[in-house]
Amino acid sequence: MAFKDIIGQEVPKKRLQAQILDNRIGTSYLFYGKEGVGKTLTAKTFAKAINCEQKQNKGDACDTCLTCKGIDGAHNPDFISILPNEKGNIGIDELRKIKESVSYRTNWLKFRTIIVKDADTLTEEAANAFLKILEEVPKQTIFILTTSKIDAILSTIRSRCYQIEFRRLVEEEIKKLIPEISDWALQMANGSVTRGLKLMSRSMQEIRNIAIQFLTSSPINRIQMVAKLKETEEFLLLLQELYMDLTRKRCGIPIKNNDLSINHREINILDTLKAITICEKAYYAISYNVPKEFMLHWIAKELP
Ligand SMILES: [Zn+2]
Repeated sequence: MAFKDIIGQEVPKKRLQAQILDNRIGTSYLFYGKEGVGKTLTAKTFAKAINCEQKQNKGDACDTCLTCKGIDGAHNPDFISILPNEKGNIGIDELRKIKESVSYRTNWLKFRTIIVKDADTLTEEAANAFLKILEEVPKQTIFILTTSKIDAILSTIRSRCYQIEFRRLVEEEIKKLIPEISDWALQMANGSVTRGLKLMSRSMQEIRNIAIQFLTSSPINRIQMVAKLKETEEFLLLLQELYMDLTRKRCGIPIKNNDLSINHREINILDTLKAITICEKAYYAISYNVPKEFMLHWIAKELP
């Protein structure tokens, strides 16, 4: 895909293309913003545009030359993607791969491009080793780090990079990317195409149905309903949004679950606010490894 084909992110695209046209390409970039808004796609397109064999494209990739195709198919040895390992982090092994790749001369591309995806997952040891590489980036090499949690990146790494913010996509852009998206999923996607796609999946629809029934069930029934639940965090987010809608409804504000006529047995606004806090507490407790079963039993009893 070329810059002209990427939907949204006009500011990042313009800034990057201007750098190409002015011939002032940096050595390290940090693309940050919510998940699923086009950071990795833009990074890949930038790699193509700076290396493209056809230079009449106003700082864009032609998408048809061998170089563009080689990067697209990820079979150009000078185009490298570093991803978190199965433990969910970028550790010393992944760092070794970076060190090895920069120890050779760039043979296949004008600019060897190394994308470090989810750079916030660098372990402390790997981040310190990586910082040393960034302090002296080898010739003809460009690093593009991406993250949805910029605060989790060492300030010393951040300050070495040219930072570009990626904004949430607007509804029209998401609709272009997922034409079949339901109005509910669009409202809940919060500007992320990845989130929108996930919300449209069957498993998320099932979790949502449980959350809807949960609202009006007795504590004992609630416990049975969630006993086999796998994606507890997702369930809590959807449940919390239902309580938020009950609050919005009472305040006369448009609701997000607008395909439902959400109702609840007698519940006042103070109870809905309390419920929102309970869901939030359970979500954070689980993310800090409190057993899911314990927290689900707790909310089944505590929620109004
Ligand atoms: Zn090209």
